[in-house]
Amino acid sequence: MSSDGVDLNGAEPSVHDVVVVGAGFAGMYMLHKLRGLGFDVAVVERASGVGGTWYWNRYPGARCDVESMQYSYSFDPELEQEWEWSERYSGQPEILRYANHVADRYDLRRDIRFETTVTQVDWDDADNQWRLQTDRGTYLARFMVMATGCLSTANVPHFDGAETFEGPTYHTGRWPHEGVDFSGLSVGVIGTGSSAIQAIPVIADECLELTVFQRTPNYSVPARNEPLDASDQADWKANYRERRARMLTQQAAMVQRLPDGEDLAKEASATEFDERMQERWDVGGFTFYRAYSDIGLDAESNGRVAEFVRGKIAGIVDDPETAAKLTPHNTIACKRPCLDTNYYETFNLSHVHLVDVSETPIDRISAAGVVVDGQEYPVDALVYATGFDAMTGTLLRMNVTGREGARLADHWDAGPRTYLGLGVAGFPNMFTVSGPGSPSVLTNMIPSIEQHVDWIARCLVDLRERGAATIEPEADAEAYWVDYVNAVANLTLFPTCNSWYLGANIPGKTRVFMPLPGFPPYVEICEDVASDNYRGFALA
Ligand code: NAP
Repeated sequence: MSSDGVDLNGAEPSVHDVVVVGAGFAGMYMLHKLRGLGFDVAVVERASGVGGTWYWNRYPGARCDVESMQYSYSFDPELEQEWEWSERYSGQPEILRYANHVADRYDLRRDIRFETTVTQVDWDDADNQWRLQTDRGTYLARFMVMATGCLSTANVPHFDGAETFEGPTYHTGRWPHEGVDFSGLSVGVIGTGSSAIQAIPVIADECLELTVFQRTPNYSVPARNEPLDASDQADWKANYRERRARMLTQQAAMVQRLPDGEDLAKEASATEFDERMQERWDVGGFTFYRAYSDIGLDAESNGRVAEFVRGKIAGIVDDPETAAKLTPHNTIACKRPCLDTNYYETFNLSHVHLVDVSETPIDRISAAGVVVDGQEYPVDALVYATGFDAMTGTLLRMNVTGREGARLADHWDAGPRTYLGLGVAGFPNMFTVSGPGSPSVLTNMIPSIEQHVDWIARCLVDLRERGAATIEPEADAEAYWVDYVNAVANLTLFPTCNSWYLGANIPGKTRVFMPLPGFPPYVEICEDVASDNYRGFALA
């Protein structure tokens, strides 16, 4: 028997009202919220600590792209007031300290089973409950909440010979806790997404030689990180209620430093356009992409903004050949936009080299390095900044079966199908926090998580009051929602390039746009559905 009362041989299942999978920001708040409503909740978590994304992504330079004063819980004004952030954008260690502070403050750990990996999840039609098998025993619960994160299964592409490489390899999303010392080493980085764009300048500072293997160049805008001004922090704290309410009215659930432009980029004069974009480039952050109302909607307007960033790259990078390689030509912001600190500048350093693998992919990994087009680039250590099997990867790896043994993997064979990103037809009493079909990764994650957790909690209380044993999406409602998410995505430029939003980064994954653009209308729909007797859900 383990210290938390779970029989490690699986003989005595641990029985609860609700089992939550994951102890990141979603799982922690779900536990706190449901506990306060009188539910018996257990959380299972494969890591040895809380924090989810911020537990795993400890790579050099890891930092949140959402500003600190907004990337935090809003559910307790006392927590808001007592926590002090030190920078405009928090680094990973500070966010992890915050997650640990929350776990301590609300005494969450006593209901979290760490180092516990879910291996099989089955709905029991006879008993109306979920059975979760883990490597540390079995859990039974009427309700199950998947708080498993959107970017929690690392994508490690297959390269021939990878196992023969003699140096250490790392994935940004599974970084060693003890840290890595690159000093005196020749380091290779594969990938140029958000993680790499943050890590490359920091690794370059430390290592002897850095070789970056780039398949697709990326647009990046300066973050302009800086110590958080004490008066700014005080101002936020004095106005938190009003600011939090305003965040919820924004498409991405965050307020920007400059007001959103309401006019069209394609109609702006050259001077007006350049001045506005320059101002936002100087301010830094995602406000750049809110300069005009049509950047994500209209190809011509988008092209103007893309050209502005291409001009910046040409101005920053000294060597024209390297600048050309670093210059993207696809739609701007149809992949997740990147923010950086000295990313393009790093390629002016004489010990930093860029290898373009767009035309000639990496052939193989050898004992001593990376081979491209027959040429070996020797490296002592290799960093995979190759992203994640986003949004569905973690859920599908848990082998979930629903009514009559139907497999989630089969139900999602042609891409994820959900109703509101909260539930799946045929999988009763299973809730997904920031699931596919919800705004999730297109927003500031913490407000999105809070909105889902609050909705699920309200739903469980309503079911308890009505004496209902099960709730599940109706197949028609789910079909309608899948069409709706596609229709909204098709109004935007998002589907115009290969991104992980579409599953395009994983060989063989069905190409479907997974998140739903637009936070405020989504919140309204969720409220409306709940108030209208959970329209589209069947209650029994
Ligand atoms: P990513 O955006 O998916 O980038 C992966 C990179 O690896 C891409 O450049 C990709 O090239 C490359 N790659 C993948 N397979 C490859 C192969 N076989 N050969 C060569 N290159 C290959 O992953 P990420 O950078 O980890 O970011 C994922 C998401 O995490 C972000 O979009 C963001 O939502 C989140 N994130 C947030 C923050 C933050 O808030 N600060 C920081 C990091 C990450 P292609 O583009 O050609 O596929």
